[in-house]
Amino acid sequence: MATQQDAVTRANFDEVILPIYAPAEFIPVKGKGSRVWDQQGKEYVDFAGGIAVTALGHCHPALVETLKTQGETLWHISNVFTNEPALRLARKLIDATFAERVVFMNSGTEANETAFKLARFYASTRHSPYKTKIIAFHNAFHGRSLFTVTVGGQPKYSDGFGPKPADIIHVPFNDLHAVKAVMDDHTCAVVVEPIQGEGGVTAATPEFLQGLRELCDQHKALLVFDEVQCGMGRSGDLFAYMHYGVTPDILTSAKALGGGFPISAMLTTNEIASVFHAGSHGSTYGGNPLACAVAGTAFDIINTPEVLNGVNAKRQLFVKHLQQIGEKYQLFSEIRGMGLLVGAELTAPFKGRARDFLYAAAEAGVMVLNAGPDVMRFAPSLVIDEQDIDEGMRRFASAVEKVVNG
Ligand SMILES: *Cc1c(COP(=O)(O)O)cnc(C)c1O
Repeated sequence: MATQQDAVTRANFDEVILPIYAPAEFIPVKGKGSRVWDQQGKEYVDFAGGIAVTALGHCHPALVETLKTQGETLWHISNVFTNEPALRLARKLIDATFAERVVFMNSGTEANETAFKLARFYASTRHSPYKTKIIAFHNAFHGRSLFTVTVGGQPKYSDGFGPKPADIIHVPFNDLHAVKAVMDDHTCAVVVEPIQGEGGVTAATPEFLQGLRELCDQHKALLVFDEVQCGMGRSGDLFAYMHYGVTPDILTSAKALGGGFPISAMLTTNEIASVFHAGSHGSTYGGNPLACAVAGTAFDIINTPEVLNGVNAKRQLFVKHLQQIGEKYQLFSEIRGMGLLVGAELTAPFKGRARDFLYAAAEAGVMVLNAGPDVMRFAPSLVIDEQDIDEGMRRFASAVEKVVNG
């Protein structure tokens, strides 16, 4: 029988886990701040942040403290009862945003599933049962349930699972004319990431989001912002919509919301929320006291001028290093994104090789991400310090040199 102390290796992955991932060859076992150690004791600088999740680094003392305290108090009680941490966290989110109502889920997928169901339900309740069209964007990513993956803009992820939810249309991102051409009174929602993450780290233009807002108002459709990746401080504002000055009707948050503890939220207005009633939707774990307590502490730290203002200073240091590396090897055609969601597009000779750079970087002692085959992505802790950025970039540069010359 397996015990908690049994030795495990990377080879075990291929024996026991569903083959849906291709994890690196090493196994991380410990993290502190923006450093991670593997089974062999090798140390890595973390520029990946668990894919934009560990916004306060690994094992932040305040999060650990809350986890311990709440862990000794109350973990789970179900939504048959409400709980204090959930009510406190909802109040924080409402006080800091456009929202008047919040619901908690456990993943970005579930927050988006909730948002899309609510948008459809709102349209059919308030307007017409035929108002079901959802407009979304090429290369968008909204999660992996059949509904959310179908709203996402990469058909290869939704093909092969049988009939898809109907009446979902995709048009090019940042192309307002394309949206206008398909927008009509049967549209219930336009769903957009203000900064596309998985799709290649591409920020929306202000005119695009402003135009979507106007089109939605004209056609009584809801504007849904998926801020699962770009929200919770990553853009340098608490939420990216604040940077753009365009207010959505529904916003989803996850990833950094719990600083690494699974939790997500969907935010909306009283009017939109009011079409739901007890039983319309739900989740067993959603809003559990343990997740909400940790997220509450993460929120209090992230939503401060110190942390939010630090994001853009750190971005500049990232961009400076990437420009230097890019120039030396003619590696990047564009450095983009916002705040600490940094994308660097590979030049033509290196197209398709993002994973090679990612693996070489890990070998050199720095964890980075890609966003598709042509874009390197960096989504570090929002409180990563300058020494970690400098050291991680030294290691990244040496990895680049190996790939380019090897
Ligand atoms: C990661 C992500 C999701 C899905 O979140 P999960 O927690 O993996 O379900 C949805 N939308 C965006 C923009 C994301 O980056």
